[in-house]
Amino acid sequence: MAGVQINQLHKKFGNLSVLSGVDLDIADGEFVSFLGPSGCGKTTLLRSIAGLEDINAGAVILGDREITQLAPAKRDIAMVFQNYALYPHMNVYKNLSFGLSLNGVPRAEIDERVQNAARILQISELLKRRPKQLSGGQRQRVAIGRAIVRDPKLFLLDEPLSNLDAGLRVTMRVELANLHKRLGVTMIYVTHDQVEAMTLSNRVVVLDKGKVAQFGTPLELFYAPQNLFVAGFIGSPKMNFLSVDATLEGARSVRLGGEELDGTIDVALNVPISELQNSGHTLGIRPDNVELVAEHEAHVHGQVVLVERLGTESQVHLNLDNGQSFTIITRGTHPVSFGERVHLKFPAQHCHIFNAAGEALPR
Ligand code: ATP
Repeated sequence: MAGVQINQLHKKFGNLSVLSGVDLDIADGEFVSFLGPSGCGKTTLLRSIAGLEDINAGAVILGDREITQLAPAKRDIAMVFQNYALYPHMNVYKNLSFGLSLNGVPRAEIDERVQNAARILQISELLKRRPKQLSGGQRQRVAIGRAIVRDPKLFLLDEPLSNLDAGLRVTMRVELANLHKRLGVTMIYVTHDQVEAMTLSNRVVVLDKGKVAQFGTPLELFYAPQNLFVAGFIGSPKMNFLSVDATLEGARSVRLGGEELDGTIDVALNVPISELQNSGHTLGIRPDNVELVAEHEAHVHGQVVLVERLGTESQVHLNLDNGQSFTIITRGTHPVSFGERVHLKFPAQHCHIFNAAGEALPR
């Protein structure tokens, strides 16, 4: 077992800079996900750790050993791919044992490791079958089994569940979590599925265009996003954003989403008005945290354009008076209906304020 440290990793494909100065410190035994939109560099970062990409600069350290220059096979890392990469002409036993035979592991030890991995993954009954005689979930288990038999210091998993149907994904997600608990080994998991990342991981690396936007626990990312990118990326439905412009001279006027507010807004936003002085700030508030209030108590006003009733809650889409779209969530039987005029208040403890550079102001 070992932690992983990545220092100033840079990777280019031709002129295209795909990873620009990635620094990460992953603790021994942690389950960490790389999360981000398509093309942000998740797979490239994973492959760089595995040694499958030639990096342009930087260092990768596994445990107390620098492995930057080591060949993939020498790194003590096992990788599980999205497409399973099983050998079609070999049965499950062979698929599991092949790598060990190549490395000259004695036959009795191979058998013990294969049987043990098969037991953990509950595929002992399938050892004689070929991959094409297996379901998607079973194939995925074999692919993971092939990593387990190697007893690596680090597991790398590249969207391992993406070829499975929705129900099986949930089952395999739980199995992966149990596997991690049982093995206690460091795992890095690439996904663009927020729910997977948030439910499985001790910590999540959010990547934005080849840079670490934030590295934190799922709750930190949700409740304390460090920048506009993470705030907008984590959470569904998405956080709402409104521009905040404050002029301190004389009237202490604040404009929120273009609407004029009175001086009490500094209390309401949980940020001293002096910090909002330079224009270009943004207020972020999650749909869940907006309160419907009487007109005189409200910060902004709008009209209901769509109500999606989901059972215990409804997603209500609004058109604010400034023309901006906005989403709120209401619970219970609160009657909000199409065309209705509504008045919104933003409780201070739920307001996120970002400066013109998109960085969260300290709260
Ligand atoms: P996805 O979620 O779509 O898999 P990702 O975050 O894993 O995306 P990468 O696969 O790491 O993204 O790709 C990052 C960028 O590098 C993309 O713009 C991609 O087109 C580019 N890229 C990846 N591999 C190569 C390659 N071998 N040659 C040239 N460009 C590449």
